[in-house]
Amino acid sequence: MARSIEADWVSRFADEVIAEAERRAPGKTIVCASGLSPSGPIHLGNLREVMTPHLVADEIRRRGHDCEHIISWDDFDRFRKVPAGIDEAWNEHIGKPLTSVPAPPGSTYPNWAEHFKAAMAAALAELGVEYRGISQTRMYTSGAYREQILLAMRERGRIDAILAQYRTKPKATKVITDADEAAAMEGSGAAGEDDGSAATGYFPYKPYCSVCDRDLTTVTSYDDDTTALSYTCVCGHDETVLLSEHDRGKLVWKVDWPMRWAYEGVVFEPSGVDHSSPGSSFVVGGQIIRDVFKADQPIGPMYAFVGISGMAKMSSSRGGVPTPGDALQIMEPPLLRWMYARRRPNQSFKIAFDQEVQRMYDEWDSLVRKVTEGTAQPADTAAYQRSIGTASGLLPTTPRPLSYRTLASIVDITTGDEEQTLRILRDLDPDNPVASLDEVRPRLDRAERWITTQVPAEQRTQVRENPDVELLNSLSETERESLRILLDGLDEHWSLDGLTTLVYGVPKIQAGLSPDAKPTPELKTAQRAFFALLYKLLVGRDTGPRLPTLLLAVGADRVRKLLTV
Ligand SMILES: [Zn+2]
Repeated sequence: MARSIEADWVSRFADEVIAEAERRAPGKTIVCASGLSPSGPIHLGNLREVMTPHLVADEIRRRGHDCEHIISWDDFDRFRKVPAGIDEAWNEHIGKPLTSVPAPPGSTYPNWAEHFKAAMAAALAELGVEYRGISQTRMYTSGAYREQILLAMRERGRIDAILAQYRTKPKATKVITDADEAAAMEGSGAAGEDDGSAATGYFPYKPYCSVCDRDLTTVTSYDDDTTALSYTCVCGHDETVLLSEHDRGKLVWKVDWPMRWAYEGVVFEPSGVDHSSPGSSFVVGGQIIRDVFKADQPIGPMYAFVGISGMAKMSSSRGGVPTPGDALQIMEPPLLRWMYARRRPNQSFKIAFDQEVQRMYDEWDSLVRKVTEGTAQPADTAAYQRSIGTASGLLPTTPRPLSYRTLASIVDITTGDEEQTLRILRDLDPDNPVASLDEVRPRLDRAERWITTQVPAEQRTQVRENPDVELLNSLSETERESLRILLDGLDEHWSLDGLTTLVYGVPKIQAGLSPDAKPTPELKTAQRAFFALLYKLLVGRDTGPRLPTLLLAVGADRVRKLLTV
């Protein structure tokens, strides 16, 4: 088993959760919980709902305690709206449980909820998140919550009184400033759902109509002694059922959530900002669990919004915000885990789909180096250890983690040609050549995915087919000389390190300086001008991938062809 990790926010929550669990029921399995609504694609922001308890549960396991992470699939929630891009015919399903709505066209899954659950479950498996999934459809329709539902109905006056304390207060409003954020809020829980009040009285239970299967029902009466519940539906149906036998309905969200905390004995469940304001589900739920279900509220930190940089344009064309599966296309699981592990839940952050992803990878590689050398800060080391594996073991890694930036540049230029890619990778370090692409996978595949799916065509590198004769003929004698020095040194310097020395060295030689001379402002200007000239001649632009990588990728023969006057 992996050792426990001290010194970060995860560790501090683990301390708190273990102490609380001991106070409540010593020796009992500790339960950490998440809730996800499979009402549509489950996006990266919702991953925080899972990663926060996952990391805490994992730390508790590392310390040798029994701990279970449960994920409640809120698949018995109503289908609220037809997302953009889906046939309007799905409108007829609004109000039905998500498990009763047909899956989107073309899906092989039996229903709407299963379709969207599956993608998230696949991403969680890749991320090493172990959990017990609980289908709320299965729980409600099997009668598992019977006692709790009857209790909530008996106590409806008390629940109504708790909710009433908040109904009079002005509703907390949150200004949503970002389109991604607005889209993100859509998927989170059942915020905004009605709390059970109606002209006919307050009833925290809402049946799905036995004729049309929608929740457009109104409870008109309830008899505590017989549990006879009467309802009407907008479809015209009305009937009386015995709640002691009825399994096709659910508690309203603000009562459902605390009921499940009590039922599962949840000690830790964070929630998004939208659930933590005054009068919100978490605050009201705390009172309902104490007064009605006679149990304790979980420790429930609020987590801040997770944003995305660089995918807005692409996501809007696809009609959605990116999912964990989308992120795992362009980065390895440890890197994605790290995004969530390194920041405290109340800090917001962004996950990069644009050029920033290269910088994130550089930062990660530098952290790995520091950890290996033993020079990393304790909290950074903790985040690293939580990212590379769990109490159950390490996640798969790339055996030879070459710089993501370098790999991206290479596949950019080779457009994924494996033979050419391997040739360039061998040349990077001739003393210790890469023998097979498998050594640099899966990182190579992620970099290739990033280049092909996220980098706009105008930012891709196009090596010139033919020399820019006009430019070559217009060069000054100094410029011609710089190209000659470079070409003369190519063979001798044909490696990543060698070419780095060479390209920085050419302007030094021209200035009569030694190869290890310290850069002066004049030298830096000369280097910049030299690099710009090379980019112009090789790729027809002022910038491009790092020059040593570019030269290796283009190949010595073609470099000669493009740089010779
Ligand atoms: Zn109906």
